[in-house]
Amino acid sequence: MFEKIYSPVQKIDLHPLSNLYVKRDDLIDPYISGNKWRKLKYILQKAKAEQKNHLVTFGGAYSNHLVATAAAAARSGLQATAFVRGEEVKNEMLLICSLYGMNLIFVDRESYKNKVDLYKQYFDSDDSTYFIDEGGASVEAVQGCSEIILELTETYDHIFVAAGTGTTAAGLLKGIQDAGLNTKLHVVPVLKGGSFIADEIARYTEISNHLILHTDYHFGGYAKTTPALLAFIKKFTKETGVLIDPVYTAKMFYAILDLHQQNQIRPTDKILAIHTGGLLGLLGMKDKFYFP
Ligand SMILES: *Cc1c(COP(=O)(O)O)cnc(C)c1O
Repeated sequence: MFEKIYSPVQKIDLHPLSNLYVKRDDLIDPYISGNKWRKLKYILQKAKAEQKNHLVTFGGAYSNHLVATAAAAARSGLQATAFVRGEEVKNEMLLICSLYGMNLIFVDRESYKNKVDLYKQYFDSDDSTYFIDEGGASVEAVQGCSEIILELTETYDHIFVAAGTGTTAAGLLKGIQDAGLNTKLHVVPVLKGGSFIADEIARYTEISNHLILHTDYHFGGYAKTTPALLAFIKKFTKETGVLIDPVYTAKMFYAILDLHQQNQIRPTDKILAIHTGGLLGLLGMKDKFYFP
């Protein structure tokens, strides 16, 4: 499933930015959210090389990573099991996971905290299983994400990406460093207190002056929104024709415009935003949007 990839760079018109490009990783696949595909690429190769045929992973009930793992497993002829945080629920994301054949085990929030224990409890004596951390965080994921940089045929002054665990950002930073580019990498954590992302990135690559962290665009925290963010999503989508998700990419695009307004980015600077996908996240928030 990893042979072909479709992720064009597209110029978009977002007033007043005149030099904004988007790397459309959201187009890689409708269900495997862009960066989750990148992250899984080498994880699956490793699992297969180790003769494993059963992926075991972890996530919340609205996790893009779970859907991506379920789809990737089904397309690679592998089994998949997910430990889902919290009480048993039904939603659109978990429906897609089950259609792809993923086995869902709901665990209370306390037990969920120790993932290695959970894994051992269920699969300790099972040689066929392969442990994938929450969100796919791993060296393999960083390597997969660094390939985004290799695909670029032009150079940019700034590259923007949203961060949850920071693994994707680490890959981009590594890619920029390995390629010897002057590009600044702007990382927008979507959680409150996002400065921990720098420590996460430091686990995989050296923190250099390429990296700029913008910790003030979390809009209240993970999966939290404000009326201003929801209004921004509607305006952005109508103006550009590109769908964005409320958990990650909307916060990143909002940050780009805001930093431009604060003159931290010059009008002529060439900007690349990584559209990491995640559009199913809209389904989890459909009640928040007002339909006139
Ligand atoms: C998971 C996800 C991210 C965050 O990726 P990390 O590597 O965890 O920082 C960003 N955007 C989307 C759409 C995602 O699904």
